[in-house]
Order: sequence, then C-alpha cells, then structure tokens
Amino acid sequence: MKNAIEIYDINKSYKNKPALKNINLHVEPGEIFGLIGPDGAGKTTLIRILTTLLLADSGTAIVNGSDIVKDYKQIRATVGYMPGRFSLYQDLTVEENMNLFAKIFGTSIAENYSLVADIYSQIEPFKDRQAGQLSGGMKQKLALSCALIHKPDVLFLDEPTTGVDPVSRKELWDMLKKLKNEGITVFVSTAYMDEATLCDRVALIQDGVLLSVDSVDGIIDSFKKKLISVKSDDIYRLIGDLRKLDFVEKAYPFGDCVHTILLDTNEDEATIMSALETLKHNNLSAKQVIPTVEDCFIDLMENHNG
Ligand code: ADP
Repeated sequence: MKNAIEIYDINKSYKNKPALKNINLHVEPGEIFGLIGPDGAGKTTLIRILTTLLLADSGTAIVNGSDIVKDYKQIRATVGYMPGRFSLYQDLTVEENMNLFAKIFGTSIAENYSLVADIYSQIEPFKDRQAGQLSGGMKQKLALSCALIHKPDVLFLDEPTTGVDPVSRKELWDMLKKLKNEGITVFVSTAYMDEATLCDRVALIQDGVLLSVDSVDGIIDSFKKKLISVKSDDIYRLIGDLRKLDFVEKAYPFGDCVHTILLDTNEDEATIMSALETLKHNNLSAKQVIPTVEDCFIDLMENHNG
C-alpha cells in the first residue's frame, strides 16, 4: 500500500542555523506515528513543512499522495492540523469556531459529527462560551474537534499533551486510537518519552537529526549494552562515584535511581557493588534493567554528539 507520508532529504535552516538536517522518513497509512524529541529538536518545523505552512530549503515530501509544494491545496483539504499553541479564535464561541472550520472545508458540524462526537460532546454544553474562556483541557478538545471536522485522511498534532493534565492526556491518546481505527493516519509530536509506547512507530529527533526510526520494541532491541539501575541514600554522591569507575560509560539520574550504562558487557551489578563497597553508601543496591525509550534516547543522543 502507498505510504501516507514520504519525506526525502528535507533540510531547513533559520538564518543559517540548521533546524532540520537530511530528514528521510515514511509513515504507513493508518499508523500512529510519534515524532519524539526535546524542545528545539525540530518537531514543529517538520510538521509545518508537511502541512504546507512552511517551505523546506531542499528536499521533497509527499503527504497523502500529494507533493507538499506543487499540490499544497490538495494537502490542505485532506489533512488536519492541531498546532502546539492554541490557535483558535479566542473571541468566537465554541460553536462559532467549529462552524467556521467546517465552512472553510465545505462541510458542516452535522456531517462529520460521529467522528468528533466523543470529544465534542464534552465541550458542547459550553458551546456558547468564548473559546478564550475555556480551561486548558477544553481548549485542547475544541482544537482537536476543529482539526477533525472535515474528516482528514492524515491528522498532524504538534505536542498536543504538553502542559495537559493526566486525565485529558489519557483521553487524547484514547481518541487517537479511535481515529486510527477509523483509518486516519496520525502523526503526533511529543517531548514526553513515555508516550512513545502509545505509538506504532516513532522517530527520535534531536538537533534536527533523526537518531532512530522504529517501533518501540525495535528501538529497545537495538540497545545492546548492559544497563544497571543503582540506588543508595545519597543519589548525588552515587552519580559522582559511578562516573569515576572506568567500566562505566554513563551514569544519569532516572527517577529515584541512577541508570548506569556499562562499557563492557562482561561487567555486571556485582562488579558495581564491589567497586562501591568501600565508599560507605547506605542502602546500596544494583540490578540490571531493560532500557526504556528514554534510556535508548540518551544513549543514541550522546553517541550522536560524540
Ligand atoms: P521543537 O518543535 O522540537 O521544539 P522547533 O521546530 O520549534 O523545535 O525549532 C527547531 C529549531 O529552530 C530551534 O533551535 C528553534 O529555536 C529554531 N526556530 C524555530 N522557529 C524559528 C524561527 N521562526 N526563527 C528562527 N529560529 C527558529
């Protein structure tokens, strides 16, 4: 089957400072694809290029079968875009915003109501309220409803869960799963590494470079090093002590533990315990753990920097 999105060698700089470097990527139809990386990684830039709001310096991309430059009108008609910052008309009411977006796309709220019913029904009781007067979670629901009103084939969401409460966050991801079941391709960016597990595949991005594109299982399987989770009552001193050991590649705080990547897979938690023995750590423990996406990201990131 044809890909929903194909990206070939996209580059983009702002005043000679590169924001995207040679991006190559494809997204299959009907998948939830996550673009995951910290602030400033280039996520918004890539989404704005794919939604035809920004021109790349070089490279091409095909979205839903159309070229992002030549066929930009076609793309605007068949994709939905929920920007990171609230972009609706603050002084129009909820219903007026919905009607406006529906009209722009030549449809009506009634025509695609079933697609947005789950989410729009929650804000419908406030349909006469100005959008600017809604709570954060409700604004987000209205923005998503507006992005879906023309039943797009591909939906782009730029950091939809940033600064959103945990309940609204879960509701949003449940909604994305439903949209996937309706056959809509979802391209979503996030800085939250834990959201990677909710995507079919992800691209890890840092400083405009794709570090890895794979399923979460695939990314974790490619981590071939030994990762030891170490704990003691004094985490700060523990990090310093671990970093001094010559068989430790990296040690960084991870929740209430220190995740420690070993240079040599022959070493293990026992080697760490004996190396730290004389340093009088209270409640010292060490155990090997399976890496999370965040561990993989840290590893890939530092290899890229180095
Ligand atoms: P993200 O969405 O991952 O936070 P962005 O795409 O917004 O990343 O930004 C990527 C890089 O490009 C950052 O270094 C950012 O400061 C820079 N940048 C983004 N937009 C502009 C702009 N309009 N002018 C200059 N630099 C920009």
